[in-house]
Amino acid sequence: MKVLKFGGTSVANAKNINLVKNIVANTEAEKIAVVVSALGGVTDLLLNAAYLASQQSEGYRSVLLDIEERHLNTVKELININSQSKVLSKVKSELNTLETLVEGAYLIGEITPKLSDKIVSFGELLSSYIISDFFAQEGLDAQYVDSRKLIITDEHNEKATVNFTITNSNCKGHFDKTDAKITVMGGFIASSEKGNSTTLGRGGSDYTAAIVAAAVDAEVLEIYTDVSGMYTANPKLVKQAKAIPHISYEEAMELSHFGAKVLYPPTIQPVLSKGISIHIKNTFEPENAGTLITKSKNQKGRTVRGITHVGNTALLSLEGPGMVGIPGISKRFFEILSQHGISVVFITQASSEHSICVGISANDIEKAVEIVNEAFEVEIERGKIKPALAETDLAIIALVGDNMKKHQGLSGKMFSTLGKNNVNIRAIAQGASERNISAVINESDVKKALNALHEEFFEENVKQLNLFVMGVGNVGAKFLEQVRQQRSYLKEKLKLNIRVIGMSNSRTMIFDDGGINLDQWNEKLASGEKADKAKFFETIQKLNYRNSIFVDNTASGDVASTYASYLGNSISVVTCNKIACSSEFENYQHLKDLARAYNAPFLFETNVGAGLPIIDTLKHLIASGDKVLKIQAVLSGSLNFVFNNFNDQTTFHDIVKHAQEEGYTEPDPKIDLSGIDVMRKILILARESGNRLEIDDIANNSFLPEESLKTANNEDFFASLVKYEDSFQEMYAKAAAKDSKLKYVAQYEDGKASVGLQEIPKGHDFYNLEGSDNIVLFYTERYPNQPMIIKGAGAGADVTASGIFADIIRIGNF
Ligand code: ADP
Ligand code: ASP
Ligand code: MG
Repeated sequence: MKVLKFGGTSVANAKNINLVKNIVANTEAEKIAVVVSALGGVTDLLLNAAYLASQQSEGYRSVLLDIEERHLNTVKELININSQSKVLSKVKSELNTLETLVEGAYLIGEITPKLSDKIVSFGELLSSYIISDFFAQEGLDAQYVDSRKLIITDEHNEKATVNFTITNSNCKGHFDKTDAKITVMGGFIASSEKGNSTTLGRGGSDYTAAIVAAAVDAEVLEIYTDVSGMYTANPKLVKQAKAIPHISYEEAMELSHFGAKVLYPPTIQPVLSKGISIHIKNTFEPENAGTLITKSKNQKGRTVRGITHVGNTALLSLEGPGMVGIPGISKRFFEILSQHGISVVFITQASSEHSICVGISANDIEKAVEIVNEAFEVEIERGKIKPALAETDLAIIALVGDNMKKHQGLSGKMFSTLGKNNVNIRAIAQGASERNISAVINESDVKKALNALHEEFFEENVKQLNLFVMGVGNVGAKFLEQVRQQRSYLKEKLKLNIRVIGMSNSRTMIFDDGGINLDQWNEKLASGEKADKAKFFETIQKLNYRNSIFVDNTASGDVASTYASYLGNSISVVTCNKIACSSEFENYQHLKDLARAYNAPFLFETNVGAGLPIIDTLKHLIASGDKVLKIQAVLSGSLNFVFNNFNDQTTFHDIVKHAQEEGYTEPDPKIDLSGIDVMRKILILARESGNRLEIDDIANNSFLPEESLKTANNEDFFASLVKYEDSFQEMYAKAAAKDSKLKYVAQYEDGKASVGLQEIPKGHDFYNLEGSDNIVLFYTERYPNQPMIIKGAGAGADVTASGIFADIIRIGNF
């Protein structure tokens, strides 16, 4: 004989029930028990109706109507017109009884656990009745049985204890006697010896099926649900989670106990003692292998088998200086909780015995504080113990696996992964079985923690980087294109999974928590919501993804002023925007400190020399103990482009215009031509070399006429270039006469920096600098005479984008 259980989603509507029928019809066994849940969501609706009625809210009526409609529609879709009236009249009569019961609760404004169980039992009563009738109509040899006649419990409503002696004999008796091949029965519901309806606890249909399987010594217990087995983590929260092919009873029990809702925790016990295996399968993809739960342990399997969480948790702590001296505090503490039916899911006790701290369901916390304070009233009054402390909005996360006890370093890995992702740990416990390590964290961090741990323990080192891109103009668009092209290469070769979760320009912004499709980001962004920097940050914070990176491709001071909030929330920042790093030293240092404190890299390689590895090289020199003596550099790709192309055959205005159009200058070209941009760059290099310098400390020997410098917009600026064409030509002629070229040079030595146009003679390292190339000469203690030289294209959207990309990969390898 086989026992098949179908959960709420599997029987949610006529379409799904048809799939269930196919599975049952294709099952080979002499006899089959089919245990079904209520139509998906109906138990919640019933509880809600009962609650509303108990509050004397009229709202219960519409909930009842909803329940009625769900069932009547299902009958109408499943049962042929000719046979409908019989089924409909039975269903309607049950619904009437239900209505009377709920109305009763409404009139007295109260609901007892006993009445609640009676009301909630209608979910499984109706579903099992409808499904058995449908099976019979479809030609299956199916018979209905009221589970309340087989499963007998005590009177403990809402989570009754099964009387196995009577129940086993009832089940055996029924299945021995029945001639029908298929018996359809409701899960979850039972009755007390006195004949009152009881239930086995939320999710209890799994348990019903296990009880029946054990009573009749079934070959196997098959649990059909909406996912393909027990996964390495809840697949609804962790997209990369995989079904576990084979797992031991103990591991499955531990996983379900710590939140793997796919299996109701008590389910294992009855089948374990009989050695009956459980097979968890997917109603919607029955061909998938699913998960097999058996006695045999999978020695070769992974050490950590699954990661789970229990939400809605609260911590209850008792502490005080007097606790050490008073005997039996813990005993009294646990006794009082147990007397009030409050179950403790997590325990930690400081070894000093100054405090006890337990995790319980948040639903029980108010009550728990009240009863504990009452129980320790005397000690609290005398100041020996402080009043009980409650903390809510917490969750427990747990790593589970049979072989964990044999491995060292797992908890270290677990906690460092959580730490790196800025997940605050409130309490820690390791199960006595050493089959789990658990920690209490903030509920809002659950998704991030599960995904980060899953990545660490299951994903063969594939690291997911979640990007939030601000600015999709010249550089930003190129960057997105490079990400699009390289994604699969990076995943395969560098084990980096790069996803762009959010993007914004100055007009609109979009988010897609599954990753924005980079083939069509343009159209999507155009129809996004209105751009808002504060909201952009808040959304990223709320999404709370691990390895989140904010990418700033703008030149905006407003955007630069948001970095601190990102870094302070452990969100890395990669930027080609120079404003932050060239602002007051104080601010630059603050951002660097935040980056260190919150484990969030702050990278800005593209601030100097676009994609050239200048800052990274400098960092390595300093880190390895070298000291910078002097820096000489041509750092403006824009100015280099301008002076390489400017001669007596062209006009200065046209060359600058061309440079702007090619994206070789900042959107406001005056920032380049005034030397401000180069000042910022040499300032950043000086700072990265370990010096405290401000922008005002840098001497700027500008070549632009005063009037050009004072213009208020691009139009006026270009007009002034036309006006002063003669003076530009003069500069050119003077240099050309000496066989020299004009180069805009930045210099740093002995704590002093300067920028300005210089005439560079033939033979100098700078003389042959082409196009928009940059060059940096680092004179250091290790390179005192022959400087270390870095040279190459130092401007342009493509190379800047690739520099940003390189910073992101640095974070990936961090
Ligand atoms: P049913 O109604 O079929 O009993 P449940 O909702 O009770 O279904 O259980 C299935 C759900 O359990 C899945 O949809 C999934 O969201 C959740 N779940 C939580 N943890 C796990 C896990 N480790 N593996 C599989 N499912 C899990
Ligand atoms: N219908 C019940 C519940 O939702 C039992 C079950 O589906 O397992 O809790
Ligand atoms: Mg369930």
